[in-house]
Amino acid sequence: MINLKFLTTSLIIFAITSSCGQTKEVFEWPNGAQSAMSLTYDDGLPSHINTVGPILEKYNFKATFYPTLSSPSLYDDMDKWKKLAIDGHELGNHTVYHPCQKSGIGMEWVKDYHDLDKYTSEEIAEEISLANTFLFAMDGKKTRTFAYPCSHYFAGGKSYVDFVSSQFLSARGSSGEQNELLKLSDIDLYNVPSWAPNNHGADDLILYIEKIMELKTFSTITFHGIGAEHMTVSKEAHEKMLQFLDSNRDKIWVGTLEEITAYLKSKRMNEGK
Ligand SMILES: [Zn+2]
Repeated sequence: MINLKFLTTSLIIFAITSSCGQTKEVFEWPNGAQSAMSLTYDDGLPSHINTVGPILEKYNFKATFYPTLSSPSLYDDMDKWKKLAIDGHELGNHTVYHPCQKSGIGMEWVKDYHDLDKYTSEEIAEEISLANTFLFAMDGKKTRTFAYPCSHYFAGGKSYVDFVSSQFLSARGSSGEQNELLKLSDIDLYNVPSWAPNNHGADDLILYIEKIMELKTFSTITFHGIGAEHMTVSKEAHEKMLQFLDSNRDKIWVGTLEEITAYLKSKRMNEGK
């Protein structure tokens, strides 16, 4: 009898300690996935509503679109942009005019009147707030995420990250070269890492996703034109990537930046981190 009691107690202790150990090592995403990613599409390009929306629907994936609100496509096809939100995609804030720091390398294309170096902190704050009002009129939502145009964080020489942090659930940061991925615990929710492919093929896209899965972390891809426009990724490469994600749904959770960072935030709060 004593032996049986001892055995039962030992088993309970073993179960508790091993399950504690497990929660510390493996972050649990919904549906048991061990990694997560957001597909994001920047600048309000026609290929987003004409190509990306329909192909995401075919594979049943939800993404985050960051339309520049002065993009002519929004005026020309407002109903299609609204439909993205109705279909469950996120419309994130990417400002009205997409101001960038003209002083940056390769930034000669930035118009003088959209030069973030010449903005004041008040001007960028007002532009971002106006974009929120515009997006609210489109989707009726007051919670969303932000993506820094050109991954530039300074307006008139002052960081506007604190303002962004006060207004948004989270923000997508650096994009450009294929970044080193961060450990999940090192991810700053107001500078979520990203990689912006530019004429890359399916193999590169899949390799990046495999790295996210391997490291059991979270990252994002910043797309621009799909089969058209600038920093293009072909329709074929884009669809092959979706097929890869489709066959790995049990390993990697694909969601909007809003969904994933809300989940991550609540888990961090529960764990007191
Ligand atoms: Zn952009």
